[in-house]
Amino acid sequence: MEFPRDREAAYVQRMFGWQRQRLRRLVLLAPVLLFLFVALQALLMPAPLSDWLHDPLLYVGLVVLTAVALWMRTLHDANLFAAGGVALQTLFLVSCAMSTRPGHGGVGLLLPMFVATPLVTAPFWARNSTVMMAILLGYLSGALALWHAHAGSTVWLAYGVQALGGGIVAMAMHATVDHARRNYFLAEEELAERARLDALTSTLNRRHFIETGELMLSHMRLGQHLAACFIDLDHFKRVNDQGGHRIGDQLLVAVARRLLELEGHGRLIGRLGGEEFAMLLPGLRMAEAEQLLQSVCADIGEIAVEGHACTASVGIAEWQPGETLSDLLHRADLALLNAKRNGRNRIVQWSEDVAA
Ligand code: GH3
Ligand code: MG
Ligand code: MG
Repeated sequence: MEFPRDREAAYVQRMFGWQRQRLRRLVLLAPVLLFLFVALQALLMPAPLSDWLHDPLLYVGLVVLTAVALWMRTLHDANLFAAGGVALQTLFLVSCAMSTRPGHGGVGLLLPMFVATPLVTAPFWARNSTVMMAILLGYLSGALALWHAHAGSTVWLAYGVQALGGGIVAMAMHATVDHARRNYFLAEEELAERARLDALTSTLNRRHFIETGELMLSHMRLGQHLAACFIDLDHFKRVNDQGGHRIGDQLLVAVARRLLELEGHGRLIGRLGGEEFAMLLPGLRMAEAEQLLQSVCADIGEIAVEGHACTASVGIAEWQPGETLSDLLHRADLALLNAKRNGRNRIVQWSEDVAA
């Protein structure tokens, strides 16, 4: 399955979100590993550890790696983190390379370190270009180590073969993990979409409408306006009875499409049940909402599926400070009831009279 290009940035950021906590800890390993690498050399080669401890380059490496690791821990942008990661890995391997000593001959024993590092980090990257850059710079750092240690041609050859194999395996590992992760990401997005939308009309489903609506009201401040509308199709049962449910469904879809034209401005449009829709319109007072709904209702009246048509009745209420979504929708519902009682195909604003 082709991965949609417009989801690329979201995928990269999501993948970073999944791994961020672990990566925040992992980056701190860089200076520790550098020190271990140096200690290992002292162990493997006929030279005392003090040889390395007197080298200012070691301390430069430790400080730079620590600084980059700490900086990376503050990052929230996936791309910046990836760039930081490649820089950290390269600086780590270059520091390792500069810590090798000529003449000791033991650099051959340490080569797996240079070969393995890009392999280990390959699954962490989200983009092919990043993996390739990390592999290339990683293996170039290994070559720097060989040059710095005056390695012989046999070691160079061994390293070349290992780096070639390592690079191919790292790319393959990345591709496998990345493919699985991208599929998982798309499946998760689709599930989230299905959990959010009504299957027939693609308006918000009841649960999502209520949850998002409650959240919206919790952020409302004194002096802000919000209108709630309850929309119910008139005598819709007749449409089903006369034309069949397929026609009824098509009519519902067409009505929903018209309602969805109002989307944007933070508006919520949902299907609360059968042929009942609700809308939350932030920033609108009752009269403004009524004006908006007038043209919508006129258009709904024009919709016909194979000769079957219907009208809509609407109840509108305006949010009062401190009011819950349930109470607000109830007032809009009372206004809708009034519209039904007074002949349908009309819009009624909530008032004390209506409530009575
Ligand atoms: P009123 O003007 O009083 O609202 O009359 P009504 O017929 O619209 O209201 P009623 O509540 O009696 O009937 C609603 C009908 O909506 C009954 C049901 O068959 C139909 N309905 C509910 N959901 C769907 C659906 O998903 N598809 C179809 N085709 N019909 C549906
Ligand atoms: Mg109805
Ligand atoms: Mg109804």
